Amino acid sequence: MTPSVSALKTSPDCLFCRIIAGEIPANRVYEDEHCIAFPDINPQAPTHLLIIPKEHMVSVAKTLEEHKPLLGHMMATAAELAKARELEKGFRIVVNTGDDGGQTVHHLHLHLLGGRRMSWPPG
Ligand code: AMP
Ligand code: ZN
Repeated sequence: MTPSVSALKTSPDCLFCRIIAGEIPANRVYEDEHCIAFPDINPQAPTHLLIIPKEHMVSVAKTLEEHKPLLGHMMATAAELAKARELEKGFRIVVNTGDDGGQTVHHLHLHLLGGRRMSWPPG
């Protein structure tokens, strides 16, 4: 049986858990039982959404076997959001991980960036 949202693991001091709980406002452009998406407060591209799991997970580095379907679901959701925003020329999905990876919020999240030409390598 799928756990209800209230039964999911959350972390009270986590910014993104507080967004999921509705304690901090965010414009939910997408929501299902597993994840939500909302605009990044400091956008780095014309489209810059964050896709986050409702369950608190620190980072992709902490992935357990049981999380694999959720990660696939989030990736597919990012692609659907990109399609809905007509990013057919391309987009980028970024998962900053750990300090060297530039992760500042320690609740796993996908950045969906699009609407401009991306450069490589990333900084
Ligand atoms: P990262 O640096 O990969 O951990 O990404 C965290 C992202 O969260 C940054 O791009 C921030 O701009 C974004 N962010 C921080 N606080 C908020 C907020 N309240 N609402 C939306 N995005 C936020
Ligand atoms: Zn959290």
